[in-house]
Amino acid sequence: MQRDYAKDKETIKSFLAEFYREEDDGKKNFVYARQLTKIAHREQIQLIVDMDDLISYRDEVAEAIQMNARRYVKLFSDAVFELLPSYKEREVMNKDTLDIFIEHRLMMQGRLHSPTDARDARNNIPMELVKRYDVYFKAPSTAKAVSIRDVKADQIGKLVTVRGIATRCTEVKPMMTVATYTCDRCGAETYQPVTSMSFKPAIDCPSEDCRVNKAGGRLYLQTRGSKFVKFQEIKIQEHSDQVPVGHIPRSLTVMCRGETTRCAQPGDHVIITGIFLPIQKTGFRAVVSGLLSETFLDAHRIACLNKSDDGELNNELTQEELDELAKDDFYTRIASSLAPEIYGHLDVKKALLLLLVGGVDRSPDGMKIRGNINICLMGDPGVAKSQLLGYID
Ligand SMILES: [Zn+2]
Repeated sequence: MQRDYAKDKETIKSFLAEFYREEDDGKKNFVYARQLTKIAHREQIQLIVDMDDLISYRDEVAEAIQMNARRYVKLFSDAVFELLPSYKEREVMNKDTLDIFIEHRLMMQGRLHSPTDARDARNNIPMELVKRYDVYFKAPSTAKAVSIRDVKADQIGKLVTVRGIATRCTEVKPMMTVATYTCDRCGAETYQPVTSMSFKPAIDCPSEDCRVNKAGGRLYLQTRGSKFVKFQEIKIQEHSDQVPVGHIPRSLTVMCRGETTRCAQPGDHVIITGIFLPIQKTGFRAVVSGLLSETFLDAHRIACLNKSDDGELNNELTQEELDELAKDDFYTRIASSLAPEIYGHLDVKKALLLLLVGGVDRSPDGMKIRGNINICLMGDPGVAKSQLLGYID
């Protein structure tokens, strides 16, 4: 059944305007309306939509969002864009370069063309260039963070929450979201919103003048009038407890834009909510990869577990468990719990255990002596040397 997106947009609009949380003192807290006011005055640049709120407002729409998240990001952006003028109470004082740029263009347009003159759609300033906010979804509290190996083909396009460890992060770089061109003949500007990872630069001027006169104006890309967002790519890997015995941990590429960048560093344990999507390749890279496709997670929310006090990783042992552990040979028990999938090798495991917990730095007469224990494993091929060391690592 086809969803009526126009109707959904109206629902979203009324949700943003009407939704409130009941505060302890009985006051109504209009969470989103307040944020819209802030966005209208450029005091806030991101709108985080909590799915819990939507579920309590209109459950059926919340479900549709989780099934087809990318589409609803757009719908939310549009809805906010249409609502913003009514939330604006005063003029924004600090204008940035893009503001002045747009103001100038509008003035030029007004001078060159009469207001009734219908312009080519591609010459109109696109919403992406004007809007100064991003919409992010926060997964409902009932959603459980899944392991990367559980994110499968049926999750494509859906809002998923995964748990893992960040292994690699690229630098944060600017990525173009709207390319602006000027024509060398008629001076008209053309805007091209970029939605995927690559784009085909426009060359021929689409403006009325050039088309009618067949002037063949060439377009030149202008960095000054284009719009860029922060972009970062993160690789996350499964936790060791999510990997079945004897398997290799899987990893997932996460693409972060705008305010989701710089949220995680390599080594951080993270819970990431995002939209699972395929990468569309073009040009040479498409030829090389042939029929294969890669997938990524379009990040909406990144939470670091080691920073939050939620106590997600509560590994404290009770006194009972401690007594149970200490009952008989503690040393052997701990040693044999190292890499339990590898049979035997108890002496090696004991040595590795000492490597893990032993070694004390000493400084007699002010001279520092490193206490680290170094271990060299020698043995026939295929006796699990690397696996043992990998476990320790
Ligand atoms: Zn032109």
